[in-house]
Amino acid sequence: MKTKLLIIGSGPAGYTAAIYAGRANLQPVQYCGIQMGGQLTQTTEVENFPGYPDGVDGNQMMMELRRQAERFGVEMHDGSIVSADFSQQPYRFKTDRDEEIEAESVIIATGATAKYLGLPDEQKYMGQGVSACATCDGFFYRKKVVAVVGGGDTACEEASYLASLCSKVYMIVRKPYLRASDVMKKRVENIENIEILYETNTLGLFGDNGVEGAHVVYRKGEADEKAYDLAIDGFFLAIGHKPQTDLFKGAVDLDEQGFIKVSGHSQATNLPGVFAAGDVCDPHYQQAIVAAGTGAKAALDAQEFLLNK
Ligand code: NDP
Repeated sequence: MKTKLLIIGSGPAGYTAAIYAGRANLQPVQYCGIQMGGQLTQTTEVENFPGYPDGVDGNQMMMELRRQAERFGVEMHDGSIVSADFSQQPYRFKTDRDEEIEAESVIIATGATAKYLGLPDEQKYMGQGVSACATCDGFFYRKKVVAVVGGGDTACEEASYLASLCSKVYMIVRKPYLRASDVMKKRVENIENIEILYETNTLGLFGDNGVEGAHVVYRKGEADEKAYDLAIDGFFLAIGHKPQTDLFKGAVDLDEQGFIKVSGHSQATNLPGVFAAGDVCDPHYQQAIVAAGTGAKAALDAQEFLLNK
């Protein structure tokens, strides 16, 4: 298959790029990946995307974005790109169905995935008490006791959601404060069945039939250090995300955390005709509205590149 523009990814960045490129008659081909719709399909309500005064379900919003892109003749595929060759133009890609694609320009909008602490026990209990998605797995912990690791907006959001299902939610926060926004901080502080454990780190997990508890330590290395066991049924990670850039390593310039580097005023990468948008190139904001904005920019940049070619 040959295309003028390949869009990889289907979060707010990918779909917005598709809407703009479709309307510019670039007839883009979009590969939506395994998790169609991206991270927002794993959240509950989105309250801060302009245009939804009463909030909107993340899944619904992504379905609407997709429908909007489809209106403008975007060729959507529900598969993944598994290899990328940037050594010559047009660039060459392979899909998970072994199809080959030649693209004159590319927008990378592959987003980011959840980070783990790196404890061997996380692997051991994966799917048996360990999760990085409260919306996906919270249901299994109704009336049970769970812990959420992290002190950012995601952790607060996950803890609030879990508190509506579970009998008790611990938040395990390594600092003496929450990094989250004031609104989210107040929300978790006011929920009765959430208990915030500040200055606490997780050392490991235990249990014969899935997770039955966590070994934690309060103020590690300090005079009043205290290690103890927390009885929990579920352990949810909410400590941030890592960009999905493995496919592009070595060809596209990345920063030290693995995010794609884009030039100051545009979404251009170091390669001609290759643009990036959304969380994959945003170590800082990571907001749906910002991702959508950079998706629009990337499509305009690609349009200009193709016109000048
Ligand atoms: P953040 O990077 O904001 O927060 C990560 C949290 O995890 C911090 O509390 C951090 O602690 C903690 N953490 C990181 N590594 C470890 C570790 N190894 N052990 C223990 N704790 C750890 O990530 P988020 O996913 O929460 O948010 C990302 C962005 O998305 C932010 O800009 C946020 O505002 C936004 N967001 C907005 C939402 C909304 O507005 N509805 C919802 C969700 C996210 P420390 O503070 O010590 O570094």
